[in-house]
Amino acid sequence: MDKTSLIKLEKLIPKDLLNQMQYIHANLLSKWILRWGSQPLKFSQKSAMVFSPHQDDETLGCGGMIAQKREQGLSVVVTFLTDGRGSHGSDTNIQNQIIQIRKQESLNALGILGVQPSEIHFLDKPDGTLPDLKAEEREQTIEQISELLKRYQPGEVYVPHHKDCHKDHEATFYLVKEAIAQAKITVELLQYPIWVFWRAPLFILLKLQDITAAYRLSITTVQEKKNQAIAAYPSQIQTLPSGFINRFLNSPEIFFKSEP
Ligand SMILES: [Zn+2]
Repeated sequence: MDKTSLIKLEKLIPKDLLNQMQYIHANLLSKWILRWGSQPLKFSQKSAMVFSPHQDDETLGCGGMIAQKREQGLSVVVTFLTDGRGSHGSDTNIQNQIIQIRKQESLNALGILGVQPSEIHFLDKPDGTLPDLKAEEREQTIEQISELLKRYQPGEVYVPHHKDCHKDHEATFYLVKEAIAQAKITVELLQYPIWVFWRAPLFILLKLQDITAAYRLSITTVQEKKNQAIAAYPSQIQTLPSGFINRFLNSPEIFFKSEP
C-alpha cells in the first residue's frame, strides 16, 4: 500500500477511532524499539546542530539531548526551516500572529534547555512548502544551511527521520543532507522520529531495515527540563492529536543512524 492509499484509508475511519489506533500503534512501536529494537546511545561530547522543520519538533525529538549537552557546556545550535504559520488554518491575520507566537515559544523552550537566542536561527520558509520550493529557492536554502554548517562545524547533525510521514519533515532531511555534501564537512547524522510511529503502519511504510540502527538515549536526568520545554509550546499542544505528546514526556529519545 502506498502513501496515497493510506491517506484515503485514514479518511474512511472515524477521527476518534483513528486517533486511538494511532496512539496505540505509536506507543507499541516506540516501546518495542526501546526494549528490543535499539541499542543504547552513549552520550557524546560532540557539538551539535539541530535542524527543525517547525517550532516544537526540536524539543519533542531532541530536547533531552539538547539539555544534556548544554549542561556540559557543549555547543548546540538550532535552525528552524519554516515559519510554522500553518498550525492554525489558512487565515492570513491568524497566520501572521502564529508566526510570532511560535517564534517566541521556541525561544522560551530552548531557553529552558539552555540554548541562547544567538544560537537559534530562523530560515522563515513558508510552512508546508519545503518539498515544493522552486529550484532557485531550493538552492538558496541549501546554501543557507551549508553556510551555517561551515560556520559552526558541528560534530553531530540532527534531522527529522527521512520517512517521518510529514512533507516538511522529510524535505528537511534531504535539504540538510545536500547541504552537508555541499559544505564538504564530515558529521555524524542522526535522525529523530516525530510522526513516523504515529502515522506509518509497521512493515508497510516502515520496513524492518528502517528500524534497525535505532539508538536510545537515556534522558532521565533532564526529562523534567524537557517536559517544561514542551509545555512552553501551548499554541502547539492544543493542536496536536490527543495523546500525541505522551511518548515524549517520559521516555528515552530515539535516534536512527541508518540512511536511505
Ligand atoms: Zn513539525
